[in-house]
Amino acid sequence: MSFAKVAVPVPLGQAFSYSIPDELSAELVPGSRVLVELGRRRVLGVVLAVVEGEPDVEAAKLKSVLAVVDREPVLSEELLSFLIELGRYYLAPLGEVMRLALPQVERSAKHRLEQQGLAGVEALESVGRLVRFAVPVEPPPGGAPPRGQAQEILDQLRSAGACEVSSLAKRWSSARGSVKRLEALGFVRLESRSQSIDPFFAEPVEKDVAPELTDAQRAALDAILAAVDGRQPAAFLLDGVTGSGKTEVYLRAVEHAVRSGSGAIILVPEIALTPQLVARFRARLGDAIAVLHSGLTDLERHAMWRSLRDGQVQIAIGARSALFAPVARLGLICVDEEHDGSFKQEEGVRYNARDMALLRAHRASAVCVLGSATPSLGSEALVRERRLGRLVLPGRARQSAELPKVELVDLRRIGPGPGGHKLISLPLYRAIEATLAAGQQTILFLNRRGFAPTVLCEACGATMQCPNCAVALTLHRRGRPTLRCHYCDYACALPEVCPSCSAQKLSEEGAGTERIEGTLAELFPTARVARLDRDVAGGHKSARILDRMRSHEIDVLVGTQMVTKGHDLPQVTLVGVLNADAALSLPDFRAAERVFQLLVQVAGRAGRGDSPGQVLIQTYQPEHAAIALAANHDVRSFVDRELAARRELNYPPFARIALVRVEAVDERIAEAAAERLADIARRAVPKGAEVVGPAAAPLARLRGRFRYRFMVRSKERGPLRTALLAVLRSPPDRRVRLTVDVDPMSML
Ligand code: ADP
Ligand code: ZN
Repeated sequence: MSFAKVAVPVPLGQAFSYSIPDELSAELVPGSRVLVELGRRRVLGVVLAVVEGEPDVEAAKLKSVLAVVDREPVLSEELLSFLIELGRYYLAPLGEVMRLALPQVERSAKHRLEQQGLAGVEALESVGRLVRFAVPVEPPPGGAPPRGQAQEILDQLRSAGACEVSSLAKRWSSARGSVKRLEALGFVRLESRSQSIDPFFAEPVEKDVAPELTDAQRAALDAILAAVDGRQPAAFLLDGVTGSGKTEVYLRAVEHAVRSGSGAIILVPEIALTPQLVARFRARLGDAIAVLHSGLTDLERHAMWRSLRDGQVQIAIGARSALFAPVARLGLICVDEEHDGSFKQEEGVRYNARDMALLRAHRASAVCVLGSATPSLGSEALVRERRLGRLVLPGRARQSAELPKVELVDLRRIGPGPGGHKLISLPLYRAIEATLAAGQQTILFLNRRGFAPTVLCEACGATMQCPNCAVALTLHRRGRPTLRCHYCDYACALPEVCPSCSAQKLSEEGAGTERIEGTLAELFPTARVARLDRDVAGGHKSARILDRMRSHEIDVLVGTQMVTKGHDLPQVTLVGVLNADAALSLPDFRAAERVFQLLVQVAGRAGRGDSPGQVLIQTYQPEHAAIALAANHDVRSFVDRELAARRELNYPPFARIALVRVEAVDERIAEAAAERLADIARRAVPKGAEVVGPAAAPLARLRGRFRYRFMVRSKERGPLRTALLAVLRSPPDRRVRLTVDVDPMSML
């Protein structure tokens, strides 16, 4: 007999076996979505494999597949096998992994299931408006031929295929009546299908003229194109300074891949996915691009999914989840700003889209291009192992644009400027003044000290902490001053006096962007000052602020991490980094790498146009390698140094690590569970691997739960897996939440 292995959306690792009724055996193939019974519930599952032989369950207990949901399999072989591999890599439940790539159920599919009388189907969420389609069918023998308009409509249907009744009605005044008659005579079948919509509503974008490539761009592109044409898996690191024209290389590579019949995916960091970026792709590649972003409605998302799956659209662009786009005949994946932390998903299946882009491309015999001005140390290590080919763009693409001059301002020696604000030093004040006088623009970057601007009592030194989470509360000044926790959303009014010592000396520590914006407005009353951070700007708002910046309706833009990402703003000549070292002290072995990348990226926003740029970095630690080397744009030396340190401390990329996190409301329960699991891991772990901890996490309490964790570390992946599987096989009871994070990006 044959049976189906089905992944169902439950927090269990393995797949379940179901028997296959004869009438479904033709449609049921790997990648099909099916309706199955799980306990007493009906759930959607994905067929992983159809297996010949005896199932691992007694025949009497074996349930059968109830229905095949979609007309065609929802996952291609390529995508399905990639997802299975991804699930193995992260030790994640297969049902959850499948969900990363599954489209919503089409309303028409749900309709079909309902007509089969399947109970419980009503509860399925579905998408799409049902539209009546007229489908031509073979008429019964001996029927009288239709006449008049009905005949014309039938001819049309027979030559062009099924058609929406409403669009027939636009051409033939009595189409609805005629179609009814045709149905009654048996020439036509009426069917409800879900309507797909045109995903591109935005204003048209003018075609751009491709610039003449620089020699370096040409050489890089040639290497990529040769690999695309070779249809062999290949991977490159496009190592190009900020403004070196990496995007231009992606554009050409994608254009070439699509012309030769392949599909392409472009992954960008969350924050970089702006209308400007998309406009650049549309201007070159036309409108047949699926832009996948969180603002899409279900209907839009589904329409894009369909057009990609059917091959009508060959290009998908988006943040990390676009990695799962059902692009047909995948030939190329580009990951822009590959070092960016937002490629890591920090909930559910904790995958890293940058790492998995390499995997998907490899398995699909496609080419993967990772681009960055500050490559991750992981990529650097892969280059040294010759698993990535390095393509270098050493200078800025535009002749006139030079890398900006960087100066360090030592805050230990240099005090506040005229505004009295310690983060607007005298040199910075003068530089802003000069830039304004020259009619040019400034970006000021405030490095959020891990967790945002906080309130401190100057008398006793107490900081205002969230009662639920072991983090400082963030001060918000809009309206009535409030303290807010950015983890659990706890909020309270800013107290008048310190809750610990009752002194009236509460003041803001590491002033936030709001306060800097206010100070600047006082210092430069005629300047147009704006601010960009997560508080003012979700998706569309941030795009609008950047638009105003581009059209020079803003003179000075103050912001957090959001101002550092890939924006191409040619009139910005001054970049000020207000507090370079704020994130250096985070308890995370990547702290220096992150600070370095951030500084180089933010400095790269200056002088991209025709006027030279200037960068001022304010710091209390000007001699720190991450700061001193960033000031010299010296990526190579930083990488060498940092790699040596990682090797010595046995951290990635020289070791593989996983974090096992344990959380519970009761601290002792969390601690005990962590100890028990660490013990299990220790006993299971083969030679060559080690278990470090358990210990309380640096963020020791989050959303009212105590957090403990331990690290498993090993040179190779095998021993790591063995230890983690042992942990997952003896899960703690329900009071404890357990997560396993393979290749963690955050150590907090
Ligand atoms: P990156 O992605 O490396 O930061 P971009 O692709 O955004 O760089 O290019 C920076 C600027 O240089 C853009 O304004 C772009 O239009 C321009 N540019 C790119 N390639 C060329 C070229 N070959 N000649 C002239 N200008 C170019
Ligand atoms: Zn909190």
